[in-house]
Amino acid sequence: MSAPITQDVLTIPRKLPEGGRVNIVGLTREQLHDALIAAGTPERQAKMRVGQIWQWVYHWGVRDFAAMTNLAKDYRALLADRFEISLPEVVTRQVSADGTRKYLLRIAGGHEVEAVYIPEEGRGTLCVSSQVGCTLTCSFCHTGTQKLVRNLTPGEIVGQLMIARDDLDEWPTQGTPKNETRLISNMVLMGMGEPLYNFEGVRDAMKVVMDGEGLSLSRRRITLSTSGVVPEIARTAEEIGCLLAVSFHATTDEVRDRLVPINKRWNIQTLLDALREYPRLSNSERITFEYVMLDGVNDSDEDARRLVRLIRGIPAKINLIPFNEWPGAPYQRSSWERIESFADIVHKAGYASPIRTPRGEDIMAACGQLKSATERGRKSRAQIAAEAAG
Ligand code: SF4
Repeated sequence: MSAPITQDVLTIPRKLPEGGRVNIVGLTREQLHDALIAAGTPERQAKMRVGQIWQWVYHWGVRDFAAMTNLAKDYRALLADRFEISLPEVVTRQVSADGTRKYLLRIAGGHEVEAVYIPEEGRGTLCVSSQVGCTLTCSFCHTGTQKLVRNLTPGEIVGQLMIARDDLDEWPTQGTPKNETRLISNMVLMGMGEPLYNFEGVRDAMKVVMDGEGLSLSRRRITLSTSGVVPEIARTAEEIGCLLAVSFHATTDEVRDRLVPINKRWNIQTLLDALREYPRLSNSERITFEYVMLDGVNDSDEDARRLVRLIRGIPAKINLIPFNEWPGAPYQRSSWERIESFADIVHKAGYASPIRTPRGEDIMAACGQLKSATERGRKSRAQIAAEAAG
């Protein structure tokens, strides 16, 4: 507990920053440091104040500056005057029969995004969104029918984790021993949006989430899924350092162009070349190839054999995702026999090929089902169906 700040802070002019209070949530340590100094914190104290505020906000989950008892009352008053600790608004919270929770969240501008919590044996995964809508239009994905409205700010990304912790009551309480088993042990950037088209926002948010003094989710517990924004892939390793997943979903350019249109820009070969160069590639940090199982589209035994040939030499695991239907979707889920036959071929080739259990289908929380009302419908279903029919 450091000494309370001295009186001299009060001599600093108390003009509010342009646009009102600064939201602390989502600021990196460096950004918070600069903001505190701009608000009048003496430079020599700023680093320590960052540490104190960081702990209150991200370790203890405190939302009221007045509760930050290791700071002088005057300084707390200044913080309350110049800053806020605000999270997206929870519009709805749905709980599936299988325990999956989906949060519909409203952010600045009245836009809405979704986040999903998936409890499993001994772990719990939070799937977060990085954009309102999506830059891309993958034809199997519900979000892909929603026009991109904007990127989420780092605060709106970090806020999804803090809201889920509130809901699961996972903040530690002062004076009680630290609970080692975390309800939210993993995070996946697999919600709405292409995270690599919001690179800086996601990077800064993950810096906050991975910081060991606060939310402290280890980088190896965070997986970022990209549809294949090749120029940003190496940067992900260098500047974020979390695990990588790729929305692969097809084994020929002809099919992947239809399912994941970004393939027209960076095709399978270009994508695989970038993955073979991935700076963090290793057997302990395998790349996850996500593969949605679509009936009669990409699920043949020949597709399975081609898939293992394509990724040969890349430390990888393959997540087979039974397609989760959504209203007007132009596809159907492969049969379980087909999925198991596919998994068998991949497994025999030496790859872990878990079949992802659909979770939260009853509340439209399963993979590829997320969509918010904001700016509904970029492409009509007829357009998507026509495109899917090729
Ligand atoms: S799969 Fe991902 S990148 Fe593709 S449309 Fe859906 S959210 Fe966007």
